[in-house]
This record gives sequence, C-alpha cells and structure tokens, in this order.
Amino acid sequence: MTTGAGIVLVGAGLAGVRTAEQLRRAGHSGPITMLGAEVHPPYDRPPLSKEVLRGDRTAADVVLQDTAFFADNQVELRTGVRAIGVDTEKRLVSLENGPAVPYEELVIATGLVPRQLPAAAGLAGLHVLRTVDHSLRIRESVGSGPALIVGAGFIGCEVAASLRALSVPVTIVDPLPAPLAGAVGETIGRLVARLHVEAGVDLRCGVGVAEILDDGAGRVSGVKLSDGTEIAAHLIVSGIGSRPAVEWLAGSAIEVANGITCDERGRTSADGVWALGDVAAWFRPALGKHVRVEHWTNAGEQASVVASDIVGGDQPTRPPVVPYFWSDQYGLKIQALGDIDPSEEVRVLTDDGRRFLAVYVNDGRITGAVGCGRAGQLMKLRPLIARQAALSEIPQ
Ligand SMILES: Cc1cc2nc3c(=O)[nH]c(=O)nc-3n(C[C@H](O)[C@H](O)[C@H](O)COP(=O)(O)OP(=O)(O)OC[C@H]3O[C@@H](n4cnc5c(N)ncnc54)[C@H](O)[C@@H]3O)c2cc1C
Repeated sequence: MTTGAGIVLVGAGLAGVRTAEQLRRAGHSGPITMLGAEVHPPYDRPPLSKEVLRGDRTAADVVLQDTAFFADNQVELRTGVRAIGVDTEKRLVSLENGPAVPYEELVIATGLVPRQLPAAAGLAGLHVLRTVDHSLRIRESVGSGPALIVGAGFIGCEVAASLRALSVPVTIVDPLPAPLAGAVGETIGRLVARLHVEAGVDLRCGVGVAEILDDGAGRVSGVKLSDGTEIAAHLIVSGIGSRPAVEWLAGSAIEVANGITCDERGRTSADGVWALGDVAAWFRPALGKHVRVEHWTNAGEQASVVASDIVGGDQPTRPPVVPYFWSDQYGLKIQALGDIDPSEEVRVLTDDGRRFLAVYVNDGRITGAVGCGRAGQLMKLRPLIARQAALSEIPQ
C-alpha cells in the first residue's frame, strides 16, 4: 500500500495495540493513528478480574505498552477520543470531539460493551466489569459487606474467586444449571462448580434474578430471585455478557450482524476497512460460518493476519487453526483448545476432584479440550484437535 492518510486504528485495546506492533514488525513505515475512547493508555483486561481486583497489581502494572513504544514506533496514540461514524466513500472517521480523521486503511477493534441489568441503572453498589475503572471501583467496595454475582460466566466466576481470596462472602446466581455452562457445557460446568463450593461460595444455579432490591437511599441492598428467595448484598457485580461496540457504525456501509462481519482474514464489507478482536465475526471456513471470539489470544492472532495483509508480501500470516483461551480461578488455570461446542459429547479423561482434563467429541473425533490445572497434558492434545483425530488416538 502507499502512504498518505495512513492507517487509522479505532479502539486502543489489545487488538489495536497488537495490530500497530505487527504493522511495524511487518515493515509498514507510513503513519499510524490509534483512537481510543478511554482516557487511559491501552491496558490488558485479563488482570482486571484477577490481580487488579485482588490488589496484587495496579492499573499502571497492566499497560500493554509504555509511552516510549508509541513514540519510538511513531504511532500517534489519541486517548479520550471516541469515533462516532465512518464515511467509507470519503474514507473519513468522524469523532465525538474534533475534526474527522482521514484514513487510507481503517482497522476497527472497538471490543465490547457490557450488558446492564435492566431497571437497575444508577444504583450505587451495582457494577459491571470491562474497564480498569470498573475493576478499581469494585475493589473500593470490598469490605462493605457480602457480594452477589449475577451470571456464572468467566467474568462472574473470576470475580467470585478474587473476592473469596479477599474473604468477601460471595453468592453466585445463574439461571443455567452450572457455572460456565453456556461456554463449555454442563458437564465441565459441574466440575468447575466444585471449586466455587469448596471455596465457600453460595452457588445458586438454575435460578434467575427477578428484582434488584435497594435500601431506599439509592444503594443496592440485595436481590430477589425467581424462586422468591431474597439475598442481602452490598456489592452486586453483573456478568451477564456483552455486546459488540458497533453502534457508531450505524448507517455506514460496514456490514454488522453478530459484530462486524468479516471474511476469513478480517476484511469487512467496505473496501480498505478491517475488523478484529472481540468486536469482529470472522468467517471460519472449517466451520462454514462467521464466529466472534471474545478471548485474548484471538485478538493477537488476528492482528498478525490483518497487519500482514495490509502490508502485503510473499508470505501472508495464516489464521490459527486451534483457538485457545484460559481463565484463572482459585489458583488453578482453566484452559480450552479448539472450537468448543457446549452441546457436544464430553469425555472426562482425568479428574482428581479439582484438576481435570476432558475432550469434546463429535462423531468419534476430538474437536476440543478443556483442562483445569492440566496445562501439560492439555497442550499435547493440540495436534490431535488440529486434525480432529479419532478419540482412540489419545495416548493412554
Ligand atoms: C475482566 C476481563 C477478564 C478477561 N480475562 C480473560 C482471560 O482470562 N482469558 C482470555 O482469553 N480472555 C480474557 N478476557 C478477554 C480479553 O481481554 C479480550 O478478548 C480482549 O481484551 C479483546 O481485545 P479487543 O482489543 O478486541 O477489545 P478491548 O480490549 O475491549 O478494546 C477495545 C477498546 O476500544 C475502545 N472503543 C470502543 N468503542 C470506541 C469508539 N467508538 N471509538 C474509540 N474507541 C473505542 C474501548 O474503549 C476499548 O478500550 C477478559 C476480559 C475482561 C473484560
């Protein structure tokens, strides 16, 4: 590509930063501008529900790159700058405050916006967790009384584990039958449930929140569950999922369905516009559908592909074959390989009551695996998952 208006990255999170790094590594020498809505320099999110929440690391400890990186690599980082629209004909990104920014290539990495519990906005003591400010606010509430987590997904489970490490009494409520059931299925969810119960969490699955209770002075006081039970809580963290941050693209020529619709290399429906990370649904030829992945490793891997295609060259980076993600709970690492389909058959290979290893099987073939405290054994399954080997090929 030629230089000029240059490459504009919208979203100064992991995917944006990795794209800037990879563009320079791949030899791009033209201008790069990164626009980030948050006032903070780009930072890493996984520690927000773990070390930062527990107080083991500060916000400054989790920045993705220090200011020297942006200066040395001539990446113009503009924080506190929100994009509000794109004109793909004129190749302009419009901003909430300030003149529109021209682009030659536009890379969108705007991530997710957490869903809020309905009809409870504005109550003190009610939290979501996506940003460093959210994490610090939850941390400040520790000590005020018991906590209630709405939603036993990854964020909810990790927050529960971190709060238990701080000796906060914790209740988790989720309408599904087990923690993480939506992501990894009920069988694995029940194995993970043991960790929470063992750590003293009051785990209530199969029941929803009917009402958020308040103290009449603008602060949460607990919840009423769908079975009529009332639970007192001074701190409520809702982890009920997120939606792609795409509102700002309304009316543009960029196709949006479940996130931004992309081909298998991150190209959107608009010429010169790419999308990656949590906000993007890339086409996966092996699955025959678009898939949006909300995990850390995916953002970096997609950045390599997009940067390599923008720069061009003889050896374009190949998209990864086996997706990976992890979660840290109660000192154990839960890790997953493959396209996990929670509806598939699960075979538990080892289980000592805490640590376990299990594979997902479709028609006798291994499609994925989840391990807890079993990193070495799990990683040995990667080549088998990559070629969807027969179950019988797993070494005994
Ligand atoms: C608390 C927490 C814990 C996690 N733990 C794990 C884990 O253990 N393992 C794992 O695999 N994954 C984990 N993840 C997921 C992982 O962090 C994400 O997959 C990753 O951050 C995705 O990066 P991204 O750049 O696509 O999005 P983000 O990191 O969300 O970055 C997007 C950025 O774009 C900005 N933005 C949005 N709209 C605009 C706009 N209109 N204009 C300008 N800027 C905008 C946002 O403010 C944000 O800073 C965790 C996520 C969270 C929130």
